[in-house]
Amino acid sequence: MADQANPFESLQTQVEDAAAYTDVPSDVIERLKHPERVLETNLSIELDDGTVEVFKAFRSQYNGDRGPYKGGIRYHPGVTRDEVKALSGWMAAKCAIVDIPYGGGKGGIEIDPAEYSESELERLTRAFATELRPLIGEDRDIPAPDVNTGQREMNWIKDTYETLEHTTAPGVITGKAIDSGGSEGRVEATGRSTMLAAREAFEWLGRDLADATVAVQGYGNAGAIAARLIDEAGGTVVAASDSTGGIYDPDGFDAAAAAEHKAETGTVVGYNDSEEITNEELLTLDVDLLIPAALENAIDESLAADVEADVIAEAANGPITPAADEVLTEKDVYVVPDILANAGGVTVSYFEWVQNRQRFSWTEERVNDELERVITTAFDDLIEAFDATETPNLRTAAYVVAIERIVSAYDQGGNWP
Ligand code: GLU
Repeated sequence: MADQANPFESLQTQVEDAAAYTDVPSDVIERLKHPERVLETNLSIELDDGTVEVFKAFRSQYNGDRGPYKGGIRYHPGVTRDEVKALSGWMAAKCAIVDIPYGGGKGGIEIDPAEYSESELERLTRAFATELRPLIGEDRDIPAPDVNTGQREMNWIKDTYETLEHTTAPGVITGKAIDSGGSEGRVEATGRSTMLAAREAFEWLGRDLADATVAVQGYGNAGAIAARLIDEAGGTVVAASDSTGGIYDPDGFDAAAAAEHKAETGTVVGYNDSEEITNEELLTLDVDLLIPAALENAIDESLAADVEADVIAEAANGPITPAADEVLTEKDVYVVPDILANAGGVTVSYFEWVQNRQRFSWTEERVNDELERVITTAFDDLIEAFDATETPNLRTAAYVVAIERIVSAYDQGGNWP
């Protein structure tokens, strides 16, 4: 079972580990171990039965040295202040490694959205948008989807903001539906970056993703799309799981058809009479590539000891605890870190924001080409840092690149007041 590592402490450990391979003084590193500010608010919503319920919500603005705060909003019963702080810090590092002009932010509401009606969720989302209004803006802080949120919630937030501000400002939020100012390719973007990052990692190792067997933990937007794109690239998807359980077929299966089965039945289990496995069994399968695409802490220290994959590409944010990282490094398992392997989402959010600012839409082909350029360049930057710094693993090298870029912007601006 996953341990209860505090994600915020994990982030601080990752920053400290990387800091040792930079020349950045410790007082400046200390700045990077805390968010600049966190909004904590209690949203009271009238439910459909007329009663009122209170929901805890957060928005953490971690670091704005490189540009406006940027990051998603998640709806999940496990949301905590520390989780949101960690996720916002990971966003700051993510935007830096892929070199897009943003800082990091993240928001969340402690709720299981499956238990509420659409109109209840709309009231909740608009209430949160109202609280967020003074903090967000096209040049200030730009939210986006995350776990259990999508175009619908983004459209509501945009509408609430624009109505209250008496303006049009589509770039205040990304991940919108196309007719509300969204971008082609945004829905697929996270999974696409996982495929691209895995492809680059295999090439770097002198191997070919087309020859790889793949297991995917979490079959939502990120995991299912990564699986489909890897399947299309010739890889063999042998296992998939979601919160209800998993499936395994050593001969491989049609990743898109498994996603359709999940869309129809609510679970991957039962697809094509595949053998049923648990999430833990999936994570320890002897595959070439493992993709954790669910939540934080999926792989803890004890599970890491049993991991048999050669390469891990993190489609989820924070799926491997720092203690597990040490075990995997020791075992020569190559981990392509979340801040690169799932950075496609925020990268295409950036493209969406650019299109919104320019009032000009790109084709899907242009979006995908530009995304590929960003991810492959970031991977090259990562390997350059890995070779130059003798960091123990790719995660630490990625943080070295990110920290140096953030600190460079901070130094250029100076400390004021
Ligand atoms: N929630 C996504 C992430 O964790 C996307 C954030 C964004 O598009 O701003 O990277």
